[in-house]
Amino acid sequence: MGEGRRPHAMMFPFPCSGHINPTLKLAELLHSRGVHVTFVNTEHNHERLLRRRGGGGALRGRREGFRFESVPDGLRDDERHAPDSTVRLYLSLRRTCAAPLAELARRASPPVTCVVLSGLVSFALDVADELAVPSFVLWGTSACGFACTLRLRQLRQRGYTPLKDESYLTNGYLDTPIDWIAGVPTVRLGDISSFVRTLDPTSFALRVEEDEANSCARADGLILNTFDSLESDVLDALRAEFPRVYTIGPLAAAAAAATHIDRAPTTNGLSLWEEDAACVAWLDAHPAGSVLYVSFGSLTVMSPDALAELAWGLADSRRPFLWVIRPGLVAGAGDNHHALPEKFIEDTKDRCFIAEWCAQEQVLRHGAVGGFLTHSGWNSTAESIWAGVAMICWPGFADQYINSRYVRDEWGIGLRLDEELRREQVTAHVEELMGGGQRGEEMRRSAARWKAAAEAATAKGGSSYGSLDKLVEQLRRLE
Ligand code: UDP
Repeated sequence: MGEGRRPHAMMFPFPCSGHINPTLKLAELLHSRGVHVTFVNTEHNHERLLRRRGGGGALRGRREGFRFESVPDGLRDDERHAPDSTVRLYLSLRRTCAAPLAELARRASPPVTCVVLSGLVSFALDVADELAVPSFVLWGTSACGFACTLRLRQLRQRGYTPLKDESYLTNGYLDTPIDWIAGVPTVRLGDISSFVRTLDPTSFALRVEEDEANSCARADGLILNTFDSLESDVLDALRAEFPRVYTIGPLAAAAAAATHIDRAPTTNGLSLWEEDAACVAWLDAHPAGSVLYVSFGSLTVMSPDALAELAWGLADSRRPFLWVIRPGLVAGAGDNHHALPEKFIEDTKDRCFIAEWCAQEQVLRHGAVGGFLTHSGWNSTAESIWAGVAMICWPGFADQYINSRYVRDEWGIGLRLDEELRREQVTAHVEELMGGGQRGEEMRRSAARWKAAAEAATAKGGSSYGSLDKLVEQLRRLE
């Protein structure tokens, strides 16, 4: 690279919050280290972000070396609300986006010197090849989640999945021990991923996960939102397979540290949903560690029965709780999106705040929050680790099972609910996590230790800070 020139990363995440948020944080970190960034959203999300309070400013405002662009996603409006909208989006992106992305890159000045993508958009590796620039994948799960997803192919080839019939879901088969995933302790087959639960020999989701994870081998580097001491065994195993693994997380912590250390500006608040600021004022009125935060991320859909069990379980705990019920969380609830029983609302009005969406990192780091009931999505888990908040896990999709397995058994910072929610178990777990008992104390102590480890990793001189340095060096060298 000539003196004074900067690497230019074109960054393209799969268009959902769980991918956009970490990619945006990585973009900020790279920019704070002198990398020129073009961040590409889909036109649909770009419009959505422009409508957000504060979002328009961040997107329209001119910042030296950081700009937003958009490409069409090819979906019709009616397809966005279809039950299989994520699959349609995945296929449509593959059909539609490669040419406009390549075109954007060709027109860019200074020239694009690398492509950084999130998982599920591996077609963008072809764009990088076409442009003859290196590519990097920010795979958005934990390292253990990635290692398990990589092995879905072997699980299929060895006949563990697809399941033979319905009975295998409940006859104990999912407890089959799996002890041959390098770096991962013996785990239950059912803990590996939701995708092993399929009965369909041609399961599209299973093949997509396998293919997307394995396609990371084509990239010049794999970037993970984790830190070395959290997942050392599995990272050692992955490093034996992938020559360049950059562990730069927790990204939320790294971005906050960069704001502090390097005075990097941030795109915080650039959220697809409007954040309810009133919940923070509500938290302010509560004593330290007293509130349970309840949220299931951007994609989970639950049945009205599960919602009711959860609601009554929370009500019976008699503890204050902040509950995010985003539009679309409850299947078939239509406009009355939260569909909570009147009596529940009446009974809990003094100790419950319901928001459609919140600034989750801020909420988790608020002193009043003492526990997190979560779907164990990796971003939420990593944010909770950084905040030092112990969890009650209710996993239901993809890597959420393995994340919750690690949260409970490897890191000692959480409990797990059964798949079928029962109010008594919800209440008992809330009491165990938030009450004064020994197990709750132990989990809180472990959570405080992991918080300190996350902060050390992302501070100057820490492993994640150093790994980001190496990534930036590599971007400069490969130019
Ligand atoms: N999130 C948020 N406000 C909310 C709920 C979630 O900002 O009210 C963010 C959360 O901080 C995280 C992301 O949405 O960064 C969810 O990602 P995760 O991987 O946990 O779950 P997914 O949505 O992919 O299932």
